[in-house]
Amino acid sequence: MDFRYTHEEEAFRSKLHGWLEKTSGEVFGRGKDGGVGASTASLLDVGDDTRWQRLLEYHRRLYDSGYVALHWPTEYGGGGATLMDQAIYQDEVLSYALPLYGANQLAIDRIGPTLMFMGTQAQKDRYLHKMLTGEEIWCQGYSEPNAGSDLAGIQTRAVLDGDTFVINGQKVWTSLAHRAHMQVLLVRTDPDAPKHKGISYLLVDMKSPGITIRPLVQITGEAGFNEVFYDNVRVPKENIVGEINQGWQVSIATLMYERVSGGTRHPVQRTITELLELSRHTEFEGIPANNHPYVRQRLAQFAVEAECLRLSRYRSLTSQLKGKIPGPESSFGKLFATELNLRVAMFADELLGPYATVDKGSIGAVEGGRWMARSLAARGLTIAAGSSEIQHNIIGERVLKLPKG
Ligand SMILES: Cc1cc2nc3c(=O)[nH]c(=O)nc-3n(C[C@H](O)[C@H](O)[C@H](O)COP(=O)(O)OP(=O)(O)OC[C@H]3O[C@@H](n4cnc5c(N)ncnc54)[C@H](O)[C@@H]3O)c2cc1C
Repeated sequence: MDFRYTHEEEAFRSKLHGWLEKTSGEVFGRGKDGGVGASTASLLDVGDDTRWQRLLEYHRRLYDSGYVALHWPTEYGGGGATLMDQAIYQDEVLSYALPLYGANQLAIDRIGPTLMFMGTQAQKDRYLHKMLTGEEIWCQGYSEPNAGSDLAGIQTRAVLDGDTFVINGQKVWTSLAHRAHMQVLLVRTDPDAPKHKGISYLLVDMKSPGITIRPLVQITGEAGFNEVFYDNVRVPKENIVGEINQGWQVSIATLMYERVSGGTRHPVQRTITELLELSRHTEFEGIPANNHPYVRQRLAQFAVEAECLRLSRYRSLTSQLKGKIPGPESSFGKLFATELNLRVAMFADELLGPYATVDKGSIGAVEGGRWMARSLAARGLTIAAGSSEIQHNIIGERVLKLPKG
């Protein structure tokens, strides 16, 4: 495996690096070594209005510079970039702890590509461009109070009345719903069919009469999640993607795009580097933490695991470059990275002792309280997009071919 960039790739990386340094400084007031609040990559980090406005400004600049959707084909306004350039983009952007697709992560990462693949021409014309510009922000209404891991158990009903679907029900944990203009919504259109076969996939205007959005405040104090209620909400029939009752297949296509462009970097690698830095100016059991044998062992173990993650992502990228579908390594990636991130956050708590619980704005808060915010948020990442237990089931059944439990 050759880890070096070609001349053209290095030129692309260098130009992007210069753009990120300038833009990150101008919009977020920080460069690569960023400091406090550096983990802006979270979709839930959008409760604060000022931060949201900054994110929108960053999105506009991404669009103006042509970086917002490098993986989209040029015919839809994307960059038509090679897999390698996409990987370079991901690695550079994550090294700045910036979100990959500005303020419209779900639209550009998954929903837009799903429309390209399965939407009508009218849907492509109506929605794709405004996803890129950020004029229309999208959210994803899948989970319900009794349907999370068992997503096919959704109960939100849509009944066809002439040319309109009438929707009643509730979604929960909808990231960004309070900021979004549009939503992809999974609804039950045939309650009598087997559960995977009675679901449809609709595009819903969040300003439709009958929609009520209630933000949920997380343990971090942020309100990035929402409960969304639907009371006789009318959605035009042409807003269905795919055929009626085939929404499960459409939603699977949406999830598959999650891995369309594999970079080699993961945000946890940056967190480990920052933990190392923290150990340089923290005491543990009365001695400098970075001299303490226990701390050194833990840091070394994290560094080894982060390197394994990086090499595994290289392997995945290499097989994609050879035109192969990513193998089992991509099934392990989410599980391994989010669990590592959780262990790193818990170790930071151990290192900081009582100071780990001091929130931002209080006397004694370490690095603006960011370690506390991380430790509170880390568990959520092991649940979002399929919990760790569900990932274990997938690996057991589909990779190791164990009998279904
Ligand atoms: C940060 C974050 C962002 C999110 N954003 C969105 C969003 O934008 N839109 C949206 O629709 N949803 C979103 N979700 C919701 C997310 O998809 C669900 O939380 C997730 O699917 C789990 O569902 P649940 O919360 O209902 O838990 P449950 O499915 O009730 O699971 C409860 C516990 O049981 C375990 N469990 C369940 N089934 C099994 C099984 N078969 N085998 C072993 N263990 C099992 C789970 O691992 C978990 O520990 C988000 C969640 C998080 C944390």
